[in-house]
Amino acid sequence: MEPRSLGSPGGDSVVEEYGVYINGEWVDSSGEELFDVVNPANGQILARFPGGTREDVGRALEAAKRMFPGWKATPPARRGEVLLRAAQILRDDKDGLGKLLARENGKVISEARGEVQEAIDFFEYIAGEGRRLLGETVATELPDKFAMTVRLPVGIAGLITPWNFPIAIPSWKIGAALVSGCTIVFKPATGTPILGARLVSALAEAGLPPGVLNMVTGRGSVVGDEIVNSPLVSVVSFTGGVDTGKEVYTCGARRLANVGLELGGKNPTILLEDADQELAMEGVLFAAFGTAGQRCTACSRLIIHKKIYDEFLEDLIEETEGLKVGDPLDPSVDVGPVKGKEQEEKILGYIDIGKEEGAKLRCGGHKLTGDGYDLGTFIRPTIFEGKPEMRIAKEEIFGPVLTVLEAKNYQEAVRIANDVQYGLSSSIYTRDVNMAFRAIQDLEAGITYINAPTIGAEVQLPFGGVKDTGSGAREAGTTAIDEFTEIKSVYVDYSGRLQKAQIEE
Ligand code: NAP
Repeated sequence: MEPRSLGSPGGDSVVEEYGVYINGEWVDSSGEELFDVVNPANGQILARFPGGTREDVGRALEAAKRMFPGWKATPPARRGEVLLRAAQILRDDKDGLGKLLARENGKVISEARGEVQEAIDFFEYIAGEGRRLLGETVATELPDKFAMTVRLPVGIAGLITPWNFPIAIPSWKIGAALVSGCTIVFKPATGTPILGARLVSALAEAGLPPGVLNMVTGRGSVVGDEIVNSPLVSVVSFTGGVDTGKEVYTCGARRLANVGLELGGKNPTILLEDADQELAMEGVLFAAFGTAGQRCTACSRLIIHKKIYDEFLEDLIEETEGLKVGDPLDPSVDVGPVKGKEQEEKILGYIDIGKEEGAKLRCGGHKLTGDGYDLGTFIRPTIFEGKPEMRIAKEEIFGPVLTVLEAKNYQEAVRIANDVQYGLSSSIYTRDVNMAFRAIQDLEAGITYINAPTIGAEVQLPFGGVKDTGSGAREAGTTAIDEFTEIKSVYVDYSGRLQKAQIEE
């Protein structure tokens, strides 16, 4: 079956029904379950996907296993060319994909287009690895001997992704796995599988051989669990929440699989007393409330030096109250809906927790109702003044909620910044170059921005975090292929006799 149209519920959206994608075809799932993908701005159904079964995963894995030797033998440069063609296909449809992403996920149109661009950028960047996949040549201790390392694909990659970046995160994992020579079973998030399906279609159109990339939608507890536990899967690359990540890690550890984890964040922005406040204002608003705060790198803690605390906070509240919340397709809107009822309940729950633990609610703090809001899930951007030990200052809320904290000096600001379980992104605004360089050393995070917001990673730098944010793997950048390649050490002895390393004779 090809994805088929089920008619139009109105507007310019058409409901499409998909199958699971196995061996180069959209086919029926072996199960009966179907789920709807819903636009969080208005509750409209956008598409219908199968809730895949363990048997579907088995079929997808068989296809990936069958194709592995051929894809591994395909020269890496040819593998990269498929990514380049797919990047062009995405570019040709960037506008349409951006609108679809805004409808599927709820992020505003400029950010949605930016996310599609990120997928294009990454495919273009990682395609070049097809002409590198660097190993090393190393000196040897014996004469007439040569030593080097080569990279080989690890095997079948199981890729599991979250709903907040429905095309960028899949593109990071898929692009790096493909150029490395892995074949793939991919499970997108149940909330946002449409952009993942479009990515898969673009790669098929670009000439990816059938069976190299397979996609099975469905529940994490079924499809995800089957992928993680299958002995056929050599590497699991997972992005999502910490609790799920711990489960995935434990299952992978039981069978000694390679597991890459990209998990949550509680990202701080520090404003020192000499900060350029105008610049910082724009950055904080963007990082805290962009994507309605539903980014792993969102700024959810703002730590302000006491000398500028009151002044900056009052201006920030005024700016935040001026943000326009609404339809993500309207270019004048700053903040879209949060992704569905479950997210809405969780975020409102944290707002209640903040009030209960005595944080001072300074703006927002409620769901939006009335015309244009009732059919969707919109939360007014929220600011609390809190204390570092409060839950709203420690736990990932993943919504448009910012906790503001006061620090008496740089040392205290860094102590507060580091005093959480996470370590993904961080930011400091200061005009003092010495303090900026000190912060690079002191902040416990995989990413530090100087005079820039906590969001806005570029694809050519490694991306990932420390502490509970991940297991040490870094996506993107020159490290992207590490997850999907094994290093083999090779010794070539051309002496024509037995030479024994480390043994004196
Ligand atoms: P999630 O609930 O952990 O889900 C992530 C993925 O795991 C989904 O595809 C989910 O499937 C699947 N899953 C659920 N249970 C599973 C299981 N037992 N075994 C295998 N897979 C399972 O996370 P989310 O709510 O989608 O995403 C938000 C989280 O992702 C936040 O914590 C955010 O910080 C984090 N994130 C991190 C990064 C990063 O790079 N560090 C980037 C983006 C997001 P279903 O959709 O079917 O439940």
